[in-house]
Amino acid sequence: MSEKLSFVTPTANSPWGTYLSQVDRVVPYLGPLARWVETLKRPKRALIVDVPIEMDDGTIAHFEGYRVQHNMSRGPGKGGVRFHPDVTLEEVMALSAWMTIKTAAVNLPYGGAKGGIRVDPKKLSLQELEKVTRRYTSEIGIIIGPHTDIPAPDVNTNAQIMAWMMDTYSMNVGGTATGVVTGKPLHLGGSLGRVKATGRGVFVTGREAARRLGLDLRGARIAVQGFGNVGSVAAELFAEAGAKIVAVQDHTGTIVNDKGLDLAQLVPISRTDGVVGFKAGGDIVPNEDFWDIACDILIPAALEGQLTADRAKKTTAKLVLEGANGPTVPQADDILAERGVLVVPDVICNAGGVTVSYFEWVQDFSSFFWDEDEINVRLDRIMMNALNQIWDTADKHKITLRTATYAVACERILMARQERGLYP
Ligand code: GLU
Repeated sequence: MSEKLSFVTPTANSPWGTYLSQVDRVVPYLGPLARWVETLKRPKRALIVDVPIEMDDGTIAHFEGYRVQHNMSRGPGKGGVRFHPDVTLEEVMALSAWMTIKTAAVNLPYGGAKGGIRVDPKKLSLQELEKVTRRYTSEIGIIIGPHTDIPAPDVNTNAQIMAWMMDTYSMNVGGTATGVVTGKPLHLGGSLGRVKATGRGVFVTGREAARRLGLDLRGARIAVQGFGNVGSVAAELFAEAGAKIVAVQDHTGTIVNDKGLDLAQLVPISRTDGVVGFKAGGDIVPNEDFWDIACDILIPAALEGQLTADRAKKTTAKLVLEGANGPTVPQADDILAERGVLVVPDVICNAGGVTVSYFEWVQDFSSFFWDEDEINVRLDRIMMNALNQIWDTADKHKITLRTATYAVACERILMARQERGLYP
């Protein structure tokens, strides 16, 4: 007899609606723990803050900021902060919930949280960006902390922004609290391997999925949507393994090259001019054509809701690697499953980032830092163990990898919930 949430009206394909339908699909596999499932259908805590700053031209601007702690049954909240003009509370709720599932799927001792500011950072000067970051951090400072909730980078945020967040929080509490955020610069308690970790995890899980499908990576054709920290690193690793990156899309457009794009040239150009800046190395095509490109592997590594039902019907990919959070809507998921397209879901596929965030947090507390080899070996081991367990669960129940990941994760979360019991 739980009441519906009043502050969100999810639709079938909206991020929170997508998440709820993913949870509904796992209920039959939860056994008696299903009694606790409602706990996953609402955030533990959601904070909306006003972020006012003085702009360079002397005017005062206000931005809306959020921090949502979805679940903390297994440990402190963990999850990134995104700066994007379209961020909403509903989106941040879904992203925080996916963090809960993700941290449990790879068995990190965390819950799930996420933050965001409704702002276009490309329109801010560096000084304005710093002000927005610091004011936002100060406002959410009442609920974050090294043992309560640990932010990290996400879309349009980076190590510099994490440094400002760490400094602002530290100034407010008095001291230097490196463990309050992860994804920091190296000399401020950051970890080797963190920048590439998410893309590396996409590669490690993708390589294993390809092996199980009997798909040879040498010569495999790959299309990548989103060419930031996740998409570009994954593309480079697949290209090193012999694959051809035949299409890349980012916010500037879509570039294709049937023989494979030259990443050594494309990556640096994309950092300043976007992928369309590399006109010399491929053909620019309309964005919708990206979904028709003949490819073996599709890597959506941008935003939510990109893989719609129509696009799922036309993709030629045999394997989808979800570098982004929530890129596939539920109806598209069903179409892909019917068509025999294997999907490695976000909550395991892109878990490499938060896994190395965990390593960073552990290193900060022990004040002892590991070399990059040690980090990568541990990352690969955690990702492979988690994926193999999820695969066994999928085979046992004859369910998709997504539902299997939810089954493994939700059992851990709800078991912790049950063992802790309700307070009071
Ligand atoms: N933003 C990343 C994600 O969606 C990383 C979060 C973290 O490191 O806490 O998984």
